[in-house]
Amino acid sequence: MMPSVNVLLLVVQAVTPPSIPPQLAAYKQEVARDVASRSQFTQQMVDQIFSFAELGFQETETSRYLVDLLRKNGFTLHEGIAGIPTAWVATWGQGKPVISLGSDIDDIPQASQKPGVACHAPMIEGAPGHGEGHNSGQAVNITAALAVKKIMERDHLPGTIQIWPGVAEELVGTKAYYVRDGLFKDVDLVLFSHVDDNLATSWGDVSGNGLVSVLFSFQGKSAHAAGAPWRGRSALDAVELMDIGWNFRREHLRLQQRSHYVIPNGGDQPNVVPPTAAVWYYLRELDYPHIMELYALADTIAHAAAMMTSTTLLPERILGSAWPGHFNKVIAQTMYENIKQVGLPEWSEPDQRLAKALQRELGVPDSGLATTLDTLRPALKPTERTGGGSDDIGDVSWNVPTVTLRFPSNIPGLPGHNWANAISMATPIAHKGATAGAKVMAMTMLDFLMRPELVAQAWDYFRNVQTKDIKYQPLIRPQDRPAIELNRDIMAKFRPQMRRLYYDPSKYRTYLEQLGITYPTERATDGSCAGSASP
Ligand SMILES: [Zn+2]
Repeated sequence: MMPSVNVLLLVVQAVTPPSIPPQLAAYKQEVARDVASRSQFTQQMVDQIFSFAELGFQETETSRYLVDLLRKNGFTLHEGIAGIPTAWVATWGQGKPVISLGSDIDDIPQASQKPGVACHAPMIEGAPGHGEGHNSGQAVNITAALAVKKIMERDHLPGTIQIWPGVAEELVGTKAYYVRDGLFKDVDLVLFSHVDDNLATSWGDVSGNGLVSVLFSFQGKSAHAAGAPWRGRSALDAVELMDIGWNFRREHLRLQQRSHYVIPNGGDQPNVVPPTAAVWYYLRELDYPHIMELYALADTIAHAAAMMTSTTLLPERILGSAWPGHFNKVIAQTMYENIKQVGLPEWSEPDQRLAKALQRELGVPDSGLATTLDTLRPALKPTERTGGGSDDIGDVSWNVPTVTLRFPSNIPGLPGHNWANAISMATPIAHKGATAGAKVMAMTMLDFLMRPELVAQAWDYFRNVQTKDIKYQPLIRPQDRPAIELNRDIMAKFRPQMRRLYYDPSKYRTYLEQLGITYPTERATDGSCAGSASP
């Protein structure tokens, strides 16, 4: 039987890809120019947040600054979301698609470092610092959002922009709670940004791990440690035996696992048998079942340590969690076309000099800053997944199509979570990298605003490929709450000194200028680190 003309028409419509709206290319050129013209605004955000240098859950100055800035720019703000005082969500616009932009804002303990100085020169000895570079991603997102919003307003384009901070990412402490709280309920796609040393994105499973972060606390009995030690039961003994047990067992764990711990409570003083002690573990594996297996093993060893010492294992606290990330193929491919158009920033001679001096300081190849774009990394094969770090954007990525845009604000070859990673983060390297990132972000937002079929394709990949066999189950339990008290004491100790060094953009064009740092500063010929005296 011949198909009717109507059926034929339908078939033709279904197989013909929707044409690309003619104004899209012009819009992209316009936002790229607009983002470039906002480079000083971008620089100020990068420098301002660098100077606040706040640890996870204590990002009060950073959040107040960003909330005020977004409100001034017409966004509607909800603060304290998911029971987290420094978390917020900003929204602007109406209707579909809802494009959600996220980036982390917290920093690293003991990573205080003068920017632009290629050797270890803390601004404040022992203080936290942006030794991960989380001071730059909000600048990428906000600059991009404002450039796109300008076009949407002028030309009445439907769509909603949502912006939120990754609070306490170093504690993988909040994004699972954002998911639980419904932050992404109506969101069509999430564009996350993260500092790197190249302009890049990827799709499929990440090479790193997911994790559960657990505090194991023991209760013993105090006694005079010399006068009547037999009457005491040491909670610290339980902590030590748990760690010893774990370290022996480590040999017989899968190579993909990573696990590490610190002892936040090891007792008060030696002459008192510690009645309380606690050890805090990050337990990392490639997927949910393996993470849960690792956690069950740690729980067994903790119980065994309590039995050996006649102490009690108190209820375990989950302080954070992260699913291993899986990024969306359609969004990554779309974003990568924009990455190719934008390209890497033009680095100046001083930029390259700083990078090479730092690389020599650290004893790694002095290749300088990236001058060749990374390729679009396709999905890794299971055998290529060897384990590594975690990011709770993973939880988001299993609930809504997501990618991470990596932008070139840092120097290749650094150790990570270290003062060295802070050096470029308030210099022209970070500023140019953030501007390049903002261009890609803005152009990618336009792709999804103007081409609804891309949103549908992203969801098709999400539903029919990514989550076909794997379903998200939170690692946090229903009774868990965000660990908002973490880092409170450390920030209280350092904040008075740090406050004196906050960036004042009304007086200084850049933070380097405010600190009086010559860019770049290299180790002096006599071997001294010239930048090391306190300002
Ligand atoms: Zn990070």
